[in-house]
Amino acid sequence: MAFKETVTIPLHDMRLVGNEMKYVEECIRTGLISSGGTFVSRFERSFSEIIGAKFAVATSSGTSALHLALLVAGVMEGELVLVPAFSYIASANAVRYVGALPVFIDIEPRFYQMDAGKLADFISKQCRWSKGTLVHKPSRRRVKALLPVHLLGHPVDMKPLMALAEKFELKVIEDCAQSLGAKYRNKNVGTFGDIGCFSFNGNKALTMGGGGMLVTDDERLTRKALYLSTQAKDDRVESVHKEVGYNYRLSGLHAAIGLAQLEQKQSIIANLRQWAASYAADLSKVEGIRFAEEAFWAYCTFSIPTILVDERSYGMDRSQLRYWLRQKGIETRPLWQPLSRSIAHDVAISYQVEVADSVYQKALTLPCRAHFDGSIARLVGNLITKGRNEKVRPSATSSKTIG
Ligand SMILES: *Cc1c(COP(=O)(O)O)cnc(C)c1O
Repeated sequence: MAFKETVTIPLHDMRLVGNEMKYVEECIRTGLISSGGTFVSRFERSFSEIIGAKFAVATSSGTSALHLALLVAGVMEGELVLVPAFSYIASANAVRYVGALPVFIDIEPRFYQMDAGKLADFISKQCRWSKGTLVHKPSRRRVKALLPVHLLGHPVDMKPLMALAEKFELKVIEDCAQSLGAKYRNKNVGTFGDIGCFSFNGNKALTMGGGGMLVTDDERLTRKALYLSTQAKDDRVESVHKEVGYNYRLSGLHAAIGLAQLEQKQSIIANLRQWAASYAADLSKVEGIRFAEEAFWAYCTFSIPTILVDERSYGMDRSQLRYWLRQKGIETRPLWQPLSRSIAHDVAISYQVEVADSVYQKALTLPCRAHFDGSIARLVGNLITKGRNEKVRPSATSSKTIG
């Protein structure tokens, strides 16, 4: 706990400085705080317009959006879903909720996104295409869907993935929870596959504390998602249900905040990019430190500004650097244990996962607050630059093992 008291620059903060209060007041005054209110439909309409999708269904979380997406895409128990080996756990959890199993495909080392080359390899070496179905030969399970995750605000290289999905008739569900506003070749993420899923959890760039969104151009999928998200009511008056539904709808109160946040989307992303630009400038010449890159075909929001720390050329590993920065009052954080290492998903299949492990070993997330502060950004940049010559090696904090 003493550790915690020294933090003067936390990883995140939150500022609701737009119309949040005004809309929440209006929401309360009109009594439309539950999911039936106009705020939910206003939020959905506004969101789908901004993203460029025909339909949007607001959900209680990004995880419930993913769960609904897999349900309406028809992913069945025992089938396989292709997921990147490196992501937040929710991407894999949702696959398990429908009884399917993830196949963890490695990420590529430049932008840390799902590796289309390794995916193609997996399909050609381990799968068989027969009678319109892709079958994983060793497990004899059907490969049903592809779930690319646009990680850290950077889009996945969608073109080769979509080509494979088309060729092998895979449903595509994009996990855009970290990448609202990111673009792949000038088109918003979430609009490439059959369904896109977003999150507005407290730790996301655009937030109302909790919430999610599912977007699609398919009216049938939209209806089904709406139906399942509201307890699968077959009759609004009589409580008649033909299916097991869920209580996954967003509340009006959340939507009111979301609507106000959405109005600030441009400035929220501009702020993130300002932090990234500052870090990139300060760290580009530091040996052993690599700040996240943006592909020429990408518009990255840098929602989670991340460096990779190479112990051999930097002198400290990421845990040591984290400890050292913490002593200076600066909070940083490692990213997620690769999903392929997760005990929770030890029943899943992994294919040639190497890069995810090495990125995880080296990755450290830097502070990024709601308002750009050049002096903080420079302080962090300068400390990391200076850290290279420090001989601080608190062995107790050093961690070489994964899992
Ligand atoms: C945050 C996140 C989710 C889950 O969203 P919640 O709103 O927290 O349920 C899913 N996938 C990824 C990649 C995330 O970062």
